[in-house]
Amino acid sequence: MKKIALVTGASRGIGAAVARSLAGKGYAVCINYLEQQAKAEALVKELQALGCDAICHPADVADPAAVRKMVDRVERELGEVTLLVNNAGISQQQLFQHTSYEEFHRMVDVHLFGAYNCIQAVLPPMLRKHAGCIINTSSIWGSHGSSCEVAYCAAKHGLEGLSKALAQELAPSGIRVNCVAPGVIRTDMLESLGEETKAQLNEEIPMGRPGEPEEIAEAVLYLAEASYVTGQTLCLDGGFLN
Ligand code: NAP
Repeated sequence: MKKIALVTGASRGIGAAVARSLAGKGYAVCINYLEQQAKAEALVKELQALGCDAICHPADVADPAAVRKMVDRVERELGEVTLLVNNAGISQQQLFQHTSYEEFHRMVDVHLFGAYNCIQAVLPPMLRKHAGCIINTSSIWGSHGSSCEVAYCAAKHGLEGLSKALAQELAPSGIRVNCVAPGVIRTDMLESLGEETKAQLNEEIPMGRPGEPEEIAEAVLYLAEASYVTGQTLCLDGGFLN
């Protein structure tokens, strides 16, 4: 069966590393992004040069109509999605009392409703074929609390809840649902924290360094192919939570 992956938030960071790994394993890949068209198009060219079927498509995952349009295009140009990686994400560090209703809503819209929208869009053919795999990018803050990240934690906890319940519901239909939970990973999201916070975080990580996007991509590849694993969260944090 042709392997077709839709990776959201794949223009850079973890999503781009995931797209590269999947392309290396023979997947046709759709690279979703929000704004960074040049990066997404450069990645498409890179993957095509390796012989991979690749397209990119801008869509706000929080917008169900935009997601439907994206999945329609993937089905037309690549085929029906066999692997969905819900990875698109945003972060914001601030006190809860300074977090507006709109900011809190946006965080939940992108992480939780984004996953809802993408899963709803790709699910019908997976159900029909009795096969499919969904991998959601959570975080160590999907199971633990972190001050100044209440909205992010709430959204990621929701994503893990969705994943566990959906894994139960879809297992009889041959569809697996899992999460990866990265710790501190060297991407633009980490760079936005500033030097002092980054140095503090490094001290808190037993392995003494942030993870690389490629190290998360390895775990996504594992879960994509691990035929007896569902409902799990694979934590990759250099020992942070131990
Ligand atoms: P990143 O480097 O900031 O990249 C974010 C990606 O998401 C970009 O491709 C961006 O597109 C896309 N995106 C943002 N909002 C979107 C939306 N509404 N619709 C579609 N695409 C959207 O982030 P990252 O560090 O790779 O993070 C990827 C995932 O890992 C996120 O879910 C994040 O919460 C999770 N995570 C990251 C870390 C970490 O330390 N980095 C740790 C734990 C979990 P544009 O390029 O077009 O803006």
